[in-house]
Amino acid sequence: MIRILIVGGGTGGLSTANHLAINLRKEIKENSVKIILLNKEKRHYYQPGFLEIPFNLMRENETYRDLSRLSVNGIELISENAIKIDLDGKFVQTENRKISFDYIVIATGVDYDYGRIPGLKDGTENFYDLENSIKLKEKLNSFKGGTIFVGVSSLPYKCAPAPLETVFLLNDLFRKKHIRDRVKIIYSYPIGGLFPNKGVSDFAMKLFEQKGIESRINSVMKYVDPSKKEITFENGDRISYDLAITVPPHVGAKVIRDSAIGNGDGWINVDKFTLEISGKENAFAIGDATALQVSKAGSVADAQAIVVAERIGQKIRGMEPEALYDGTGGAIFLTGMGKASMLSSNYERPPSLKPESYSFYWLKLIYNQVYWNMTAKPYLNEVME
Ligand SMILES: Cc1cc2nc3c(=O)[nH]c(=O)nc-3n(C[C@H](O)[C@H](O)[C@H](O)COP(=O)(O)OP(=O)(O)OC[C@H]3O[C@@H](n4cnc5c(N)ncnc54)[C@H](O)[C@@H]3O)c2cc1C
Repeated sequence: MIRILIVGGGTGGLSTANHLAINLRKEIKENSVKIILLNKEKRHYYQPGFLEIPFNLMRENETYRDLSRLSVNGIELISENAIKIDLDGKFVQTENRKISFDYIVIATGVDYDYGRIPGLKDGTENFYDLENSIKLKEKLNSFKGGTIFVGVSSLPYKCAPAPLETVFLLNDLFRKKHIRDRVKIIYSYPIGGLFPNKGVSDFAMKLFEQKGIESRINSVMKYVDPSKKEITFENGDRISYDLAITVPPHVGAKVIRDSAIGNGDGWINVDKFTLEISGKENAFAIGDATALQVSKAGSVADAQAIVVAERIGQKIRGMEPEALYDGTGGAIFLTGMGKASMLSSNYERPPSLKPESYSFYWLKLIYNQVYWNMTAKPYLNEVME
């Protein structure tokens, strides 16, 4: 029996498992293939919702579901923490067992390394996990005026537009509460623009000017003093705040760093088209876990999952794998309450923006709901079961 192990049941891992179980339905029924999905917890999260909870665009309990409800038939689910991945020995060690594999797909996402910026964890809020998102919502509810700081600690981080979206949503939230004139919004970015791509940065800068939002570029946070509510930057600048919202430093998952599979920060090197881990056979990595120069986005993880599921299916059936990842990625970019743009790119095409519209905003709210039947558990596949 051929054993396919997927480590990580987030957007990329779940999508890989589901597409594999569909592609290899016949082989699974004949007991010649087994698909195992290993995730450290029972829940699967829709992370874009974490940005929306503080603004009442999504409810807390709409952002997660049990993996058992989302995985299609033919997948064995194991809810345990992987503590070591041995690509040469072809096994994964959890706290309770050793799981052997013939094929492995690593989709372990990211960890947040708060320790890199002293004071960041205690002195600032964020929306990068469910708990912090709920806490931020409470802070915003009781905010009556003052300086709000929104800053990105370092690149790469998940969902590149998320901090800009936050700024635009804050602007509208305070306008709706009729306290915008009592709030100063300051945004900081660690490189020479408001966003990694110049076109998007220029677009955001125009909106900043229209909406009266201040910015600091080339500003790398050095430390935060929670008692003084002050952020000090590498260049010596300081900002005092009443409420600070930051994007914490991102690194590869602990198990990747502990298993020495990735580079210094734990990002895994893969072939940009086949997504095979460099120098390893039948081993793939997808989504946020890779060192690829593409966005850390659910759209990327899902597009890569489909490619990997197809390649593994073709290999197992003795065919030459043909599916290739073309760098596809994209996101709906909220520019306020009731307005959004659409960002898309691939290896050939740098990020391009569609004009802002009400329709994109609604598309985002609709996608929040259909995610569960489209990306997480493809509806068509469910029907075919
Ligand atoms: C606030 C926010 C807003 C976002 N907005 C958007 C958006 O609008 N559009 C978009 O496309 N993307 C967006 N994203 C990004 C998107 O959510 C991620 O890029 C996507 O989830 C990546 O999928 P993944 O499978 O690589 O990682 P994840 O979905 O993070 O999954 C990783 C999984 O690995 C598991 N895991 C980790 N370590 C272990 C271990 N040792 N053992 C077992 N399991 C383990 C975790 O439990 C988790 O389930 C947003 C993210 C955030 C935080």
